[in-house]
Amino acid sequence: MEKFWEPLVNSLLAFTWLDALDIIIVAVILYWVIKLLAKTRAIRVLIGLGIILILARVFVVFDLKTASWLFNAILTAGAVLIVILFQPEIRRALETLGRGKIFSFASKTQVDVQKAEKIIEEISRAVLNMSKQKVGAILVFERKTGLGDITESGTVLQADISSELIENIFYPNTPLHDGAMILRRDKILAAGCFLPLSDNKQIAQELGTRHRASLGISEVSDAYVLVVSEEKGIISFVYDGVLKRYIDAKMLKEILSELYMPETDEKPNKKLTGSKFKRKVGDDE
Ligand code: ATP
Ligand code: MG
Repeated sequence: MEKFWEPLVNSLLAFTWLDALDIIIVAVILYWVIKLLAKTRAIRVLIGLGIILILARVFVVFDLKTASWLFNAILTAGAVLIVILFQPEIRRALETLGRGKIFSFASKTQVDVQKAEKIIEEISRAVLNMSKQKVGAILVFERKTGLGDITESGTVLQADISSELIENIFYPNTPLHDGAMILRRDKILAAGCFLPLSDNKQIAQELGTRHRASLGISEVSDAYVLVVSEEKGIISFVYDGVLKRYIDAKMLKEILSELYMPETDEKPNKKLTGSKFKRKVGDDE
């Protein structure tokens, strides 16, 4: 154990302003990498690698030879793995660097109560109208997990939310009606996006790819998803790999309020994401 602290004590004794500069540079680079990755699902891979790194160090300290050999081997392969897994992110990071946008400390758009009420009204109207008219739709609401990489599979819109625009996008045979719409705070970020399909074996037989896609994205992110069935007009709410069908106007309002009302911004509403929705996939009440 003494051997472990020795280098630390030595380097603290020999600390110069150049070391301080060194630390600042590394901190800025780390901040920049995390900031870029925070908007994508790649951040989870990074956290996983971080855990392996810490474990590998612990195994070395306690002199567990085989375990530290294994973890070091994983870390060596990890360097190649990072390049392969993060290829789109690395590309985007370099593009951002080229555009000189790294140091924009823009904060998230905060929606005030009045605006939130308007947005809830617009989305509810669109979803209820589409349900009545049996227009198929998937609306994915981004929360903490960034969905930037999903939007790349569709068309980026960055448009204000309105019921007319939502209904228009999903109207059959229009260019963007196929696929999912991604919403981030008060904007329709993109439409026509491709979502990962769930391979959950418990999904009810009558649910097709639209519902599988909505489950898929809810399994890999914390997004809330609203689905309107084209066949039956049924509205479903999907969260954390659980699909709840037969959502009525009142429940729709509850879900949207939780997403948009400022006071419930950070704490999930237990009624929506708790036991009430923790039924088996495809359960029909
Ligand atoms: P519905 O009840 O509306 O018929 P469903 O679950 O039976 O829904 P399908 O009939 O297979 O599903 O719906 C197909 C539509 O779902 C496609 O036209 C497309 O718009 C959408 N869709 C299918 N797969 C995906 C995907 N991976 N990502 C986004 N949208 C998808
Ligand atoms: Mg179908």
